Amino acid sequence: MKKILLVSTLMFLIGEPCFCWGFFAHRAINYYAVFLLPPDMIPFYKKNIGFLTDHAVDPDKRRYLLAEEGARHYMDLDHYGTFPYDGLPRSWDSALRKWPADTLQKYGIAPWWLPRMVSRLTAAFRMRDAGRILKISAEIGHYMADIHVPLHASSNHNGQLTGQEGIHGFWESRIPELFASDDYDFLIGHAIYLNAVPNFAWERIMESGKAADTVLRVERELSADTRPERKYAFSDRKGQVLRQYSEAYASAYQTRLLGMVERRMRQSILAVASCWYTAWVDAGQPTLPMDNSTRIMDGDGKEQRIMDSLWKSALIRGRSCTN
Ligand SMILES: [Zn+2]
Repeated sequence: MKKILLVSTLMFLIGEPCFCWGFFAHRAINYYAVFLLPPDMIPFYKKNIGFLTDHAVDPDKRRYLLAEEGARHYMDLDHYGTFPYDGLPRSWDSALRKWPADTLQKYGIAPWWLPRMVSRLTAAFRMRDAGRILKISAEIGHYMADIHVPLHASSNHNGQLTGQEGIHGFWESRIPELFASDDYDFLIGHAIYLNAVPNFAWERIMESGKAADTVLRVERELSADTRPERKYAFSDRKGQVLRQYSEAYASAYQTRLLGMVERRMRQSILAVASCWYTAWVDAGQPTLPMDNSTRIMDGDGKEQRIMDSLWKSALIRGRSCTN
């Protein structure tokens, strides 16, 4: 926990933009999603819950390896006008007929990418390939959770256009780290079958797009009502002064947001479990392999090692987004 806090603080100091739920929240979302699965799935997922949580941030790590990875985590909906964005095709092929691929990449492709991953998971279930099932499940957990973050659906993703730099990490990292373990309720119910994963992904990112204005406005108002010395907390670490949003300020923000962060975390958990469940049903509800899953990283071991090492060096340089 100490390490998590230190790194998030460093990031805040350096003022780099953030792109994703924090490390803590991504792990928690994948973890709690396991308990929403039906009896035929839960033993396999529970047995591998360590893998699912440990690899919840792999897609972020891959951003240092693969240029096109970043676009899979967000969509600047406001680039396409205003809600309900009628001019924005919901299908990738239709969008490609309107704009070149690099333009689409530039403004983010999250709701097009997520259904593709769910199709891959269905294929992995059909093959009963434990390694692929787990790897893709962990990554679906990441992408689906990102879609639920309001600032992942706005071009003002870190408040950089409104003088609110740092708000991204504040909403998605600092607040869950401070309050989720003790105050949030993650007893949610059961995974549901999604009749149309693409529609579901679009619905969720549209909700995020609508909430982005609230996320920014409420913080602006709170900031105006708060004396500067109460907004931030300072600490000394190895001779370096660290600054982060104070706990009191975070608590007040959470209250004014009427529990939005908890609500979006809960919705993420249900959505992740529902994607896993839907892929399994679509694959014909195969019996899941319960043998030793040490082969999980076979074939991907090299990529994983490179990703981890690039990630670590980005952390040292203070360029990581997910602490
Ligand atoms: Zn992400």
